[in-house]
Amino acid sequence: MTARFCLACGGRLARVREDGRARRRCRRCGWTFYGNPVPAAVGVVVRGGRVLLARRARPPYVGTWDLPGGFLEAGELPQACLAREVAEELGLRVRRARLLGFATDRYGPRGFPVLTAVYRVEVRAGRPRPADDVSEARWFPRGAVPFGAIAFPAMRRLLRRYLSGR
Ligand SMILES: [Zn+2]
Repeated sequence: MTARFCLACGGRLARVREDGRARRRCRRCGWTFYGNPVPAAVGVVVRGGRVLLARRARPPYVGTWDLPGGFLEAGELPQACLAREVAEELGLRVRRARLLGFATDRYGPRGFPVLTAVYRVEVRAGRPRPADDVSEARWFPRGAVPFGAIAFPAMRRLLRRYLSGR
């Protein structure tokens, strides 16, 4: 998925190369589409040796297990985004969050690029109540996480690495 028309004037974009990278530039006004990644924040929510996963209710990868989280709003910092998304999707309040690292994925096999900040999260007491773009939430024992059913490749790798203690 990439832009075909100029965001500034609606003109058609042409493929160009700039510093060895593929860009799209407007033939009419010169506006350039860089395809920069969209920032996101997600949480590995842990409680007593278990990890909370959320089943995706919307494309891409609808029906697969995922880490709760979402895209940053303008002016929002990653940790605030994480707390907002965990509340919206699961009805849970974040008690503590620690940055584990970053992952780069595409939003679907042909989707736009995403840069995800991944946090280890502890939540306040309470049962998850799936809502918004989550159809189900389930606690998995650390040794029984269904890696094969986690669709975003970088997320799967990061979660596997974290849970194996490497
Ligand atoms: Zn233009």
